[in-house]
Amino acid sequence: TVPPVKYRRILLKLSGEALMGAEDYGIDKQVIERLAAEIIEVQQAKVEIGLVIGGGNIFRGAGLASSGMDRVTGDHMGMLATVMNALAMQDALEKLGARVRVMSAIKINEVCEDYIRRRAIRHLEKGRIAIFAAGTGNPFFTTDSAAALRAVEIGADLLLKATKVDGVYDADPKKKKDARRYEKLTYDDVINRDLQVMDTAAIALCRDYNMPLRIYDITRPGDLMRILQGKQIGTLVHG
Ligand code: UDP
Repeated sequence: TVPPVKYRRILLKLSGEALMGAEDYGIDKQVIERLAAEIIEVQQAKVEIGLVIGGGNIFRGAGLASSGMDRVTGDHMGMLATVMNALAMQDALEKLGARVRVMSAIKINEVCEDYIRRRAIRHLEKGRIAIFAAGTGNPFFTTDSAAALRAVEIGADLLLKATKVDGVYDADPKKKKDARRYEKLTYDDVINRDLQVMDTAAIALCRDYNMPLRIYDITRPGDLMRILQGKQIGTLVHG
């Protein structure tokens, strides 16, 4: 028998890079299809799911600024990139039969809905997957901050950050063989030791509103479901 899930509502943050797979730009069709299938599996286990998707596989404001573009314009492009990723994920999820709404923090009504908190919660209650696009809608923020913000707003039980590493380490596991993975960290550990988990604004928001955060490896199929069944996978950041 399948173990029951322990969470009612989650916010899953996928970086733009997670959609790239082995490519170095854009969206890998097979990867997005696999991610969509995992998300639907979790939803079928009666977990309500909000998604925040990054845009780093297309544009990042900081990258554009370093090659001379105005930073705010670059951030606008980065936010629009997240809308494209959200549309691609919506499509992948719908192809597999899920009901999905993309809600953008920037008005782009011909393409998707606006983010309205009460409506977002209603979508979740009705069994729709809500994809929160365009980050926070403001320059100088990241989609990590958007993920923390939306998680708190929708009252998620858990914020999940999917990365390409299976948690947080005390050194880069690709460079140091004896790097150790933390099973648990406090928000203050992350901030004080400057561990690269999420940006400080995101961690501070999680800390202030006591939002548990788990970092896990997106490339391992099935881990998302196992986490929701209560398995201690990756690194938990808590109070
Ligand atoms: N961005 C922004 N405000 C936000 C969220 C994102 O300006 O609230 C811009 C920023 O330029 C960022 C880009 O959108 O670099 C893509 O988001 P992010 O870098 O967080 O994507 P990820 O690294 O998760 O793929």
